[in-house]
Amino acid sequence: MNLLANRVAIITGASTGIGHATARLFAREGAAVVVAARRQKELDELVGTISSEGGRALPLAGDVGEESFAQALVELAVDRFGGLDIAFNNAGILGATGPVPQMSQTEWDEVVTTNLTSAFLGAKYQLPAMAARKGGSLIFTSTFVGYTAGMPGMAAYAASKAGLIGLTQVLAVEHGPQNIRVNALLPGGTDTPAGREFANTPEALAFVRNLHALKRMATPEEIAQSALYLASDASSFTTGAAMLADGGVSINRV
Ligand code: NAP
Repeated sequence: MNLLANRVAIITGASTGIGHATARLFAREGAAVVVAARRQKELDELVGTISSEGGRALPLAGDVGEESFAQALVELAVDRFGGLDIAFNNAGILGATGPVPQMSQTEWDEVVTTNLTSAFLGAKYQLPAMAARKGGSLIFTSTFVGYTAGMPGMAAYAASKAGLIGLTQVLAVEHGPQNIRVNALLPGGTDTPAGREFANTPEALAFVRNLHALKRMATPEEIAQSALYLASDASSFTTGAAMLADGGVSINRV
């Protein structure tokens, strides 16, 4: 079944992890995908993989914190694939961790720019392109951190990711009349390079797994399935949502 037949999608953070798995899944479901991240080589390899699986993909390397890159991604989707239906604004970093009194403004700014300002910039160019197609699905990757759990040391990450939920709600009401749905996806701990950044010792990994009701981390492919739900017509009446796909980390009490 091709859930995304004839759709065009932008996927940021596609060089590794959740974005990489989602790009492959969206392409397998029939979407033409524009894949974005800073690392060109990884994007080229991903495009090669998608092409070998019979899919259509184009890479564009750049920094999601830069407005010119957000604009270029949409232009590429429109010029080469004919429009834009789906944007999975997923690129993000954990960034500097530790107590706020020890955090520099430069460290704070890097996280907020990469995780939150990028979403504003992406939406700014993606929404008019979707409106031209008379509808679309905009998705931001947030997290349970800062929404259902206050994790020590993660102030910048939590604040930036919680900001995405506010942005989601406003954009959902502003663009609902244009048939554009806007949702935030909130993964639990996911086994990616970023997920391993925190779970970086056997003890830390066991701790992270145990936080979840399911007693494990997600695979990137599992989170990609949730992104597919939000991208496809399967979620046609879902907008403005903060959708947990978190293995029960938010409700688990151990
Ligand atoms: P990941 O494997 O480290 O992937 C992060 C992606 O973002 C990479 O493709 C990276 O590519 C890209 N990226 C980072 N900074 C960028 C920038 N300035 N410009 C362009 N691309 C940039 O992490 P992941 O776990 O898949 O994370 C994906 C999203 O899920 C993130 O927003 C993360 O916060 C969120 N999340 C992750 C978890 C988890 O446990 N893993 C849980 C909840 C939410 P380049 O380095 O090539 O630029």
